[in-house]
Amino acid sequence: MADYPTLLLAPPLPVISDGLAAEVQVYRLYEVADREAELTRIAPYIRAIISGAGFPKVDAALMRRLPNLKLVSNFGVGYDTVDVGYAREHGIIVTHTPDVLTEEVADLAMGLLIATVRRIPQADAYLRAGKWEQKPFPFSASLRGKTMGILGLGRIGMAIAQRAEAFGLKLAYHSRSPKAEAPWRYYASLVEMARDVDILMVIAPGGPETFHIVNGEVLHALGASGTLINVARGSLVDESALTTALEAGTLGAAGLDVFEDEPRVPESLRKLDNCVLLPHVGSASHYTRNKMGQLVVDNVLAMAAGQPPLTPVPETPISGRA
Ligand code: NDP
Repeated sequence: MADYPTLLLAPPLPVISDGLAAEVQVYRLYEVADREAELTRIAPYIRAIISGAGFPKVDAALMRRLPNLKLVSNFGVGYDTVDVGYAREHGIIVTHTPDVLTEEVADLAMGLLIATVRRIPQADAYLRAGKWEQKPFPFSASLRGKTMGILGLGRIGMAIAQRAEAFGLKLAYHSRSPKAEAPWRYYASLVEMARDVDILMVIAPGGPETFHIVNGEVLHALGASGTLINVARGSLVDESALTTALEAGTLGAAGLDVFEDEPRVPESLRKLDNCVLLPHVGSASHYTRNKMGQLVVDNVLAMAAGQPPLTPVPETPISGRA
């Protein structure tokens, strides 16, 4: 067994729990009644922590308590629950799970887009309520002839773009810099892109830099016949401005997989008919979650064996703490 004690803050998937326990000592903080006392007791031993969306935050206060921490292995490609700035300054490596979830999330994004524009969940509810026997379901909007602007043309954004082209959509994108490999129109300004497109697909990282990047002005620019799809993080969209726009009809529709205060979703949003709401399921298939879990384990085991991490985030150094 490698000397690489690893801290679990919340119950992980069996692939993580079993995969780690077979190779390193695992401390399951969530099983202990007095977590504060236990954390103080084990703090000097801990080398790695497992993090992820829906797990407790790995902030500076927690990392400061762990003097021998070398690795935060994040379950998910987005690592906005980890204070990556603190980790970088203190030589702690952060790893994540890119690529293994890209196609799954892109599939879900397209499914959510079609469900939102063609009102698939509303039509299903209509049939189940017996309303079809009284009159046909009202016509929906259409994807035909529409342009989609992608906010964040990275790994997943590109996989969504490929699918969208196959569906006959015209494309544009906004990111921090134009991409040589992308043949679509680049907008340096998100508001300008929102003004020109019918659909805004949000798939950029969360965190302070993108906080409320989709604000009231962007939603207004998208307009009454516009559709917003957010499969990134809830923090990118001003949820209160979004709710107001959907209520007033100044935005046409929204499809959301992520929310500002997950898993709590405001009643004001839940009661609206012009949005489709999913419980953060972008990568949540057995197949993909197991691939992600295995990568979380493999990053810990690589570091435990004295090798470089497999998938470090761009911000943290490969060399890390000695
Ligand atoms: P990438 O790092 O490959 O792509 C991110 C893209 O966002 C890049 O095009 C980048 O542009 C752009 N971007 C970053 N910061 C900004 C900014 N401030 N303004 C505008 N654009 C910006 O990430 P992935 O495609 O792998 O993943 C994207 C995000 O999707 C993840 O961070 C995660 O939060 C979310 N996600 C959600 C899931 C779900 O279940 N709903 C599942 C998986 C991921 P540039 O290259 O110019 O810097």
